[in-house]
Amino acid sequence: MAERVIPLYDQRNPRAPALPIPRSVALAASDGPLLDRLQRPLRDLRISVTDRCNFRCSYCMPKEVFGKDYPYLPHADLLTFEEITRLARLFLAQGVRKIRLTGGEPLLRKDVERLVEMLAGLRTVDGMPPELTLTTNGSLLKRKARALRDAGLQRVTVSLDALDDAVFQRMNDVGFPVAQVLDGIAAAQDAGLAPIKVNMVVKRGTNDDQIVPMARHFRGSGIALRFIEYMDVGSSNGWCMDEVLPSAQVLARLQQTFALVPLQPSSPGETAERWGYAGADGRHDPALGEVGFISSVTQAFCRDCNRARLSTEGRLYLCLFAEQGYDLRAPLRSGASDTEITASLAAIWSQRADRYSEIRALLPPETRRAARRIEMSYIGG
Ligand code: SAM
Ligand code: SF4
Ligand code: SF4
Repeated sequence: MAERVIPLYDQRNPRAPALPIPRSVALAASDGPLLDRLQRPLRDLRISVTDRCNFRCSYCMPKEVFGKDYPYLPHADLLTFEEITRLARLFLAQGVRKIRLTGGEPLLRKDVERLVEMLAGLRTVDGMPPELTLTTNGSLLKRKARALRDAGLQRVTVSLDALDDAVFQRMNDVGFPVAQVLDGIAAAQDAGLAPIKVNMVVKRGTNDDQIVPMARHFRGSGIALRFIEYMDVGSSNGWCMDEVLPSAQVLARLQQTFALVPLQPSSPGETAERWGYAGADGRHDPALGEVGFISSVTQAFCRDCNRARLSTEGRLYLCLFAEQGYDLRAPLRSGASDTEITASLAAIWSQRADRYSEIRALLPPETRRAARRIEMSYIGG
């Protein structure tokens, strides 16, 4: 097992200078969809609404780094709901169809349902409501599910890494019980926030014994369980390859217990490889449901990556593994017009060439270790 080194500096890296916004005004308007340098459209916007969280998952916000005195962003630095909504409207005009709220823990942001309501009132270029979803650790979902649904949220993804309380509490590192997350999931189902997905980050030697129990629990429940390879996001989780259990091995373990058949991707740019539970005839039985695999370490999916991420304080990141972002809050707060901000978005996206997961294996280990990437809790998953 490789030695774990957890460096103790401000891992969030928001103080890294923002990237200069390119000047070229490449408005997408009538020239077809906005494409980046690898011909990828912009479809999916993930918005982090807080950098705070009530969990301390070791792979995301380890206690050693995110301790009592951790300097979270002051409230005045956060984008307001009005600022987020204005940016979201401009992103939708550039082809975005799906908006995901995330964090930190998004349900900790006060009145987040008001933001949901504001975003639900926006429209895509086709005049449709955007697909509006949220990723949560589920701890506050029981209390909030109904209000979120009433405000216009369509779906939720809930993160849950184990069914066994001891394993789960070790992973969230705040002693939070599984039962309360399961209650949150049930409340989301009752409120109609469907289809629900559950994300399980798999760490070899920590929760890999939970793979089959988790699959058994969610099989036939209408909830799709997705196994996520433990990733080298951020710089604080002391990541090492030994702790990654490749999706192929997770699938092999599942196949010892369940019959599974491969399914087609549900949309272009879909991050998860889907497998369906087979019925007695050997074909996928929709009543039994499906599982997904997000294999960003062992199987790069950059080619179709159509996602942009807006940080809590309004920086735009073009890749989960970026070290720097573009400051969109400055133009927002200095009176830039919609046309000017749109021109900036178009110029930024059209020069994007990120594909970290594809080139990770080619990077020398020293380069990978030295990188000061932004934290997942700051830009969201
Ligand atoms: N707090 C919310 C939650 O946990 O769902 C939303 C934010 S969290 C950063 C979003 C997703 O990122 C979660 O599903 C979490 O499991 C995942 N995540 C965080 N760190 C990760 C890592 N190092 N590798 C893989 N997934 C990670
Ligand atoms: Fe919090 Fe989500 Fe990160 Fe866990 S994964 S520490 S719940 S932000
Ligand atoms: Fe997208 Fe970057 Fe992930 Fe590749 S590594 S899929 S470009 S976020």
